[in-house]
Amino acid sequence: MTRRIVIIGSGMAGISLARELRRLDDRAEMVLLSREPGDFYSKPALSNALAGGKSAAALVLTPAARLAQDLGVRIVGHTEVDAVDTGAREVHATAGSFAYDALVLAMGASQRRLPMAGEEADAMLSVNNLADYARFRERLQGARRVAIIGAGLIGCEFANDLRLAGIEVDVHDVAAQPLGRLLPARAADMFRRRLEAAGVRFHLGTTVVRIDPAEPGHVLSTSTGTSARYDLVLCAIGLQPNIGLARDAGLDTGTGIRTDRWLRSSVADVYALGDCAEVEGLVLPYVLPITHGAKALARTLTGEPTPVQYPAMPVVVKTPACPAVICPPLQPGGAWSVAVDGDGLRAIYLGADGETMDGFVLLGSAVKERMSLAARVPGPLAGTVLPML
Ligand SMILES: Cc1cc2nc3c(=O)[nH]c(=O)nc-3n(C[C@H](O)[C@H](O)[C@H](O)COP(=O)(O)OP(=O)(O)OC[C@H]3O[C@@H](n4cnc5c(N)ncnc54)[C@H](O)[C@@H]3O)c2cc1C
Repeated sequence: MTRRIVIIGSGMAGISLARELRRLDDRAEMVLLSREPGDFYSKPALSNALAGGKSAAALVLTPAARLAQDLGVRIVGHTEVDAVDTGAREVHATAGSFAYDALVLAMGASQRRLPMAGEEADAMLSVNNLADYARFRERLQGARRVAIIGAGLIGCEFANDLRLAGIEVDVHDVAAQPLGRLLPARAADMFRRRLEAAGVRFHLGTTVVRIDPAEPGHVLSTSTGTSARYDLVLCAIGLQPNIGLARDAGLDTGTGIRTDRWLRSSVADVYALGDCAEVEGLVLPYVLPITHGAKALARTLTGEPTPVQYPAMPVVVKTPACPAVICPPLQPGGAWSVAVDGDGLRAIYLGADGETMDGFVLLGSAVKERMSLAARVPGPLAGTVLPML
């Protein structure tokens, strides 16, 4: 008997899963619901597309219609899913109701908003999907000065990309260093200096508290009493998993939608994958966990229960001014050891036992060591897995 699998979300998680499912089962009935049009694009490309002059349309890798045809999946785009009735096994969306045998929540994460005072507090843009990118690019027409709030991975990538596009960039962050939670101080210092050499101006240890109108643009005021005018303000202070729908449907949620290693939620036949998921306590909002998760979940959904196993998954930071690879340690209690060699930096994080390499950071020419170091780091969720109950 064919089963009907409903997937909510057409991001990397939803579409990767549909692809993996079709590889394993040419009969499974699949419906993919999304508030986006359903086109496939690579979200990481959004933060390094400006310098190459790429429009939002140019970033579409596979249009929805083509995807639907190639995969034999029904894609219902531009629809908002309002509720999930897990008793009736039905999803309610603005486009109608959809019955499921298995439901996969692949609803991603939303940009956090910074509480802000001022007449133009709502003027902050954020870029978390193609439509956001199109709006951002349009608003950049004629802009010369941009403020970015947030010196994390995404904020730094946009800062570098804007500089390459010839735009002045100021990055504001309450933390004392860029990529604050991911880098040891010496690495953060080198990273900051290289981006500064490329023209990025950092304002660290301060927070933006007000946005008011200017002619043209906006005036930003900081907690340390400074103020400056910008044509555009981009907020990049981090993402928050989309859990509202799952919580309202009675699923167990924490930071994300809680699942076990089989990506099963607390309710039968409902699974979660991607940025919205919290897999055995881990929220890993990156591409590689989705790749591994989609493969495992496709097997589970086609009758071969398969726990997800993550290897070490280093993240490549797309900042040409200072190429960086980060494999963040997942356990506290260890210590960094940092070595600088020519224009490269290698930081190794040894766990609490003083021997196990739990993470690393590579900058500049040292990024070439990514694969060899990754092979030495145990992945999150690595190790023995008990059979599924
Ligand atoms: C600018 C940027 C750069 C990045 N760069 C990197 C990188 O270099 N390397 C890396 O590993 N990771 C990177 N990431 C993170 C990576 O892109 C994400 O982990 C990944 O794309 C998440 O995919 P997803 O499918 O889980 O979520 P999303 O892509 O957010 O997809 C969620 C989908 O769910 C839909 N949806 C949500 N709620 C509803 C609803 N109620 N009704 C209908 N549809 C709904 C949305 O419309 C969307 O289609 C980056 C992220 C950003 C924003």
